This record gives sequence, structure tokens and C-alpha cells, in this order.
Amino acid sequence: MEKKQPRTHAVLLASPGMGHLKPMLELGKRLVKHHDLEITLFIVTNDGGDGASGSKSEILKSSDEFLHIHLVSPPQQDVMASALEWSLIRKLVMTMRACVPVVRAAISSMPVAPSAIIVDLFGTDFWDMADELRMLKFAFMTTSALYLAAFISVPYLVDKLSQKEYEELRTIDIPNCKTVAYEDVFGLANRDDPDHVFARPMATNFINADGVLVNTWHDLEPNTVSSLGDGRLLGKLYPIGPLTEQAAEKKLSTEDNGGAIAILEWLDKQPGGSVLYVSFGSGWSLTGQQTHELALGLESSKQRFIWVSRPPTDEVSEYFFSGGDGSGALDYLPDGFVARTKGVGLVVPMWAPQAQILAHASIGGFLTHCGWNSTLESVTNGVPMIAWPLYGDQFVIAAILTEDLEVAIRPAARTSSGGGGAVGREEIRELVVKLMEGGEGNPLRARAKALRGTADRVLEEQKTGSAKDSLHQFAAALRSGPKRPSKLR
Ligand code: UDP
Repeated sequence: MEKKQPRTHAVLLASPGMGHLKPMLELGKRLVKHHDLEITLFIVTNDGGDGASGSKSEILKSSDEFLHIHLVSPPQQDVMASALEWSLIRKLVMTMRACVPVVRAAISSMPVAPSAIIVDLFGTDFWDMADELRMLKFAFMTTSALYLAAFISVPYLVDKLSQKEYEELRTIDIPNCKTVAYEDVFGLANRDDPDHVFARPMATNFINADGVLVNTWHDLEPNTVSSLGDGRLLGKLYPIGPLTEQAAEKKLSTEDNGGAIAILEWLDKQPGGSVLYVSFGSGWSLTGQQTHELALGLESSKQRFIWVSRPPTDEVSEYFFSGGDGSGALDYLPDGFVARTKGVGLVVPMWAPQAQILAHASIGGFLTHCGWNSTLESVTNGVPMIAWPLYGDQFVIAAILTEDLEVAIRPAARTSSGGGGAVGREEIRELVVKLMEGGEGNPLRARAKALRGTADRVLEEQKTGSAKDSLHQFAAALRSGPKRPSKLR
């Protein structure tokens, strides 16, 4: 009898943060379900938090029937925790770097040697290990293609400028892509920032990968996808999006998800398209003043809302590592706010089942920090947005949503050049009314629905295994990877 060949095995590696973990999980699940691959997912954490400790274990439970999952923490955990003065980027890079030996040891002892490793933005320090173990190396950009284009080209562009040119820099031209405002890629482009030392090697590692995956599709970012796909800036590009949690596939049990079910039941009672969903991602937070203004702006808009709210802090990434579990107390909100908005609004402390909420027919708008996963969850449900970026790539995403796709409106202060000050309650009221009024006749909503149609077409192609589909092509590349697994273990 002919011996059955083992399935091709690949390793995925997610850096800390729900925004990195969720698309990796989706990628892994689809490679197993639709392409018959074997996938091991390493999830790097550095304090068990990642913006949603409880929710994370629940997400993992729903994935472990498909994937082999390993949770990994850096051995010198206390060193990471004490590095308080480090920027978020530095913490992420150093955390991943510290995990190389643990992951290497685990891979070396696997019964079926994996033929490839797929890492996100912060994981390219694993390239040396991959070379040594003769694995193919793929980089997965979990944000937009435009940010990917900026990420691989901006560090080189700014390094070439004279001091005078650098000081006068206002916009950045990336070949055949949308011009980006210098301020929107400031983090990448600030060559005086000590973290700029990370930018170039990370960009080079992306360029040298065996392929780059990006969670987008042609109709969402046509020029950028064409430009990156022509092979001049990068090697092979796989635009594999939209990879978002499939809300309909998830069964919520009352035992684990009492809170989530109560939110969805509240939504069931609201009229179609009438509720604004307000959330600032998995780990971001607002100042006390901004929280106060947002509450009063929502209240005076008289629109229905669900607001996922966190205790205010002065550090925007306060909850990124520390987790999304909290006491649930809402005593930081304006006096009487919860009582006055009862029935119209629902304030949810810390964390909500976002993919399910955005897929609900009662949702008519999303006030979002413009994380890419949140953006895709909104777009794939045809929900228009108020774009309120807080950090990093979110400013580039807000520009795409408001200027190119015209499915979002944006407060003036939340442009990089807008000064970053608080958005006042009156402007919030105006934006909310503008987004929510007019029902299906609202042009923002009509465009969001049309965009959803383009996502539906791609998802259909992915299901039918079309050769045009990038995920299909990527699975084929994994299968034809290194034929002889490494003996160098
Ligand atoms: N998320 C969620 N509930 C929350 C907040 C976030 O389920 O209360 C999920 C959200 O659906 C998305 C991810 O966490 O899939 C956040 O990723 P995104 O890229 O939008 O933002 P990040 O937090 O990484 O900036």
C-alpha cells in the first residue's frame, strides 16, 4: 500500500496584540479548512494580557480544533516588564527577539518539520532561524497595503534626504501609490527617533522575504495593490484579504459569553441601522477630558449607541499589554451620563464581541480608532465610519477611508496635522448625526455597502478555490516549498 504523505506543515507566529493575533488565527484556520495544510500557531504574549485576556482564551478555544497552538513568553519576562521607558514598538521588537530560542527549540522537536514560517511586522528577527532550519520565510502585514508600501520605502527615502530637505518634508511620494502626509508616517519617518534603528532592518527583511501577505484585496486599495504586485518594490505579494472573524460561524455559549449575549439581545431590540458602535480597538484609551467630551457628544446627538469604554489614561497604549479585564466600574464618566442615556445607549466596560456587533443589522455606523481589523470588520459589513485615529498606521488608514474610499468622516483634530488635541462635544455631535442620519440614502452608507460587495466577491472566490485567489496561490507556494526538510536540528 502506498504510504500517505504527511500534510505540508507551516508555522505562524503572532506578536503580542489582538490586532496581530486575530488575522493570524483566521489565516491559519483557512489554510487548514480550505487548503488541507497542517498549521502550528505560536502566540507570543508578555504578560498574558493582549487587550483581552478572557476574550483571548475564548477565541483560542474556538480555534484549537484546527490549529496546534503554543503560547510563548520571553524568558526574561521581568526585564520586559521593567522596560517601562521603552516605546511600544521597541517593546514588541524586543519581546519577539527574546522568544527566538524558545520557538526554535519547539520547532526543532516537531515530528513533521515545518517547511515555512509566517511572521507579522514584529517577527522578522526569526529570519536567521528560518534560514538555518531551511524554512521558507513569509511576512504578513496585518495592516493596509498602503502602510506596507510606506513601511518598506519610507525609511530609505528619508535617510537619503539632506538635513534641509528632511526639515522641509511635508508629503511622501511612494511610486504609483497615494501620496502620504509626512505626519501620518511620522513614526516611520522620524530619523531622529531612537527607534528609527529598527525601521530599516525590518523593511529590508520584508523585501527579502519569500513572499509578503497583506490583509487587503484589489478593490479596496487598487493602486497600491497593483504597484506592490508589480515586483519592483517587493518580491511576491499575496493580497489575501479580507481575513476577518466570520461572525456567523461563531456560536456563543451562555456559559462563557453571558455579557456578549446580553449586548446582542439589546441590539435585537433596536431598529435596523440605528445604532452607532464606538470602540477604540483592543488596547487604546482616551484622556479624561476626551472621555468626558465623547460622552457628552454622544448624549447630545440623541442617537442610539454602544460604547466600549475604558478608564481614561494619559498614555494612549496603556492597555495594549496589560489586558482588557477591569473592574467594570464606570465612575469616570460624567455624572448621571449612564442614567440619562439608559435605553438609548449601552456602555460596555473594556471589551465587547466586536465582530458579532458589527455584523448585526441594527448597527448603522462605527466610531473607530481605525485599526485595520476594525476597519475590515466594518467594511465587510457595509458599515460607514467616523475615523478617529490615535496611533501609528491608524492615521494612514483614516486617510484611505476618508479621502479614497469616502466611507468615513473625520474630526479635524484627529488628523496628524490637526494638533492631536481633544475633539469637542459639539463636533462629535455633528459627526455622529451626519453619519447616522438619512438611512440608506446617506452617501457614506451607500458607498460602504458597495465596498462590501467587492469583499463578498473575493470571499466567494476564496470559497470556490479559484486559481485567481491569492490564498490559493499562497497555499500552493507553501506546498511546493523546501522538499527536503532540514536535518540540521
Ligand atoms: N476587538 C474586539 N472587542 C473589543 C475591541 C477589539 O473583539 O472590544 C477586536 C476587534 O474586533 C479587532 C481586534 O480586536 O478584530 C483589534 O484589531 P484592530 O486592528 O482593529 O485594532 P488594534 O487594537 O490592534 O489597534
